[in-house]
Amino acid sequence: MLDVRCFTVGMFGVNTWLLTDRATGRAAIVDTGESDELVQRLQAVSPAPDVAMILLTHTHLDHAGALPLLQEVWDVPTYMPAKDQPLFATLPHQAAMFGMPHLALQCGRIDHAIDDGFAVDLGATTLRFLSTPGHTPGQGCWFDDTHIFVGDTLFAGSIGRTDFPMSDPALQVESLRRLLDLPGHLVVHSGHGPDTTLAHELATNPFLGFLRRERGIPGPPGLRWAPGT
Ligand SMILES: [Zn+2]
Repeated sequence: MLDVRCFTVGMFGVNTWLLTDRATGRAAIVDTGESDELVQRLQAVSPAPDVAMILLTHTHLDHAGALPLLQEVWDVPTYMPAKDQPLFATLPHQAAMFGMPHLALQCGRIDHAIDDGFAVDLGATTLRFLSTPGHTPGQGCWFDDTHIFVGDTLFAGSIGRTDFPMSDPALQVESLRRLLDLPGHLVVHSGHGPDTTLAHELATNPFLGFLRRERGIPGPPGLRWAPGT
């Protein structure tokens, strides 16, 4: 069982997460923001979290840009989707691409480049990785039996953009099919905006109309946003 705390940080209002395994107190940080805000807010948490690992959902600057700042304080194993390596390598340039050249971002250290089906134990909780490329080449989701941290794969009422340089709408379609095969009760913690559940999004999300048609689920027809939808 996990305790989940959200820290919405930085100029992009990105949701970052502190997961704490209730049985052991071991904690994981999911995503980073692009500034030192998460470091400062985590250092203010009392009692101090026993951080055992850093997990990334993908490597856009708002999700991975502050990795070296976190690692200065918590020098712990860091896990990144392997297929995001080409995007991760652009981190020093992403700030300029987003119009913020004053941000001098560095890449930080990756200890484990992981892929679909990977699992890691946080105390007594097993966290699994589902690869859901589309928004980025390696975008993925971390989940246990109750929670899923989806980065920019899926939002309450929306999905991640697929018009960025390394995005791929066709991959996003297939990734949403696989994500929505997971149990509907999973609480969805997105990279931006409020929590939801997989079941609620499958029933209502305008970008998942194609899944409702494929699966014979009632609900609004939704948008045709990519071939196959
Ligand atoms: Zn992103």
